[in-house]
Amino acid sequence: MKDRFLPHPVTILGVPVHPVTFEGFLDAVARFIAEGDPRQICTANPEFVMTAQRQPEFMAVLQNADLVLPDGVGLLWAARRLGRPLPERVTGSDGIYLLAERAAREGWTMFLLGAQPGVAEKTARILQERFPGLRVAGTYPGSPRDEDYPEIVRRIKDARPDILLVAYGAPRQDLWIARHKDDLDVAVSMGVGGAFDFVAGVQKRAPAWLIRLNLEWLWRLITQPWRWKRQLDLPRFAWRVIRSMDD
Ligand code: UDP
Repeated sequence: MKDRFLPHPVTILGVPVHPVTFEGFLDAVARFIAEGDPRQICTANPEFVMTAQRQPEFMAVLQNADLVLPDGVGLLWAARRLGRPLPERVTGSDGIYLLAERAAREGWTMFLLGAQPGVAEKTARILQERFPGLRVAGTYPGSPRDEDYPEIVRRIKDARPDILLVAYGAPRQDLWIARHKDDLDVAVSMGVGGAFDFVAGVQKRAPAWLIRLNLEWLWRLITQPWRWKRQLDLPRFAWRVIRSMDD
């Protein structure tokens, strides 16, 4: 059941992206938790869109997600060109702090799934120090291996969180959520990519001035050079968007 309060999504190369602000995102989370049905939130960027062109299964996940946030600046650029501007970048890396702040106020509980051992625990500690009263119902590191699934599901069900943040990287985390969300009894499940790594300080986020210049992707390319192959998707994305407008 789609949320009738969300603004109509902008479709970018087949992927629906919601034109929301951080505030709209948090309000949607509040509604989803009040309603209680399992909902999925994705933090999309041009790499998501290009991966979805190659993987129909991932495209279906994005098309069926309850909320797709405009996480990458390339999506803002594309939406502007398509004549349906998006209000702002709503990133998982900033969103995690805002979500934790609101969760502490509202009494929502969070479960942090994924990332290397120790990283989710450290993320939880840092968020709890910063937002006193925040309840983290559990953490569990590692990968979405099928043999680990029963243990993961048991922990999440025991913890009964309102929000499940999943850091398995895209598209794995989003495929995992889509496949399992109906078994988990969690209102809001959201893929957050490297957000725990940033909070825990395992990865350094780009400086604010570079983010302001819309160059966070360049920072990631320099600090995580093994991503270069994936980042080839950025020019490919731009080319596809420009071409799609000639059709
Ligand atoms: N990760 C994980 N298990 C895996 C693969 C990745 O826990 O099998 C974690 C990894 O430690 C990191 C996050 O998932 O915390 C992915 O971060 P990345 O910045 O690569 O996210 P992406 O940009 O790929 O969505």
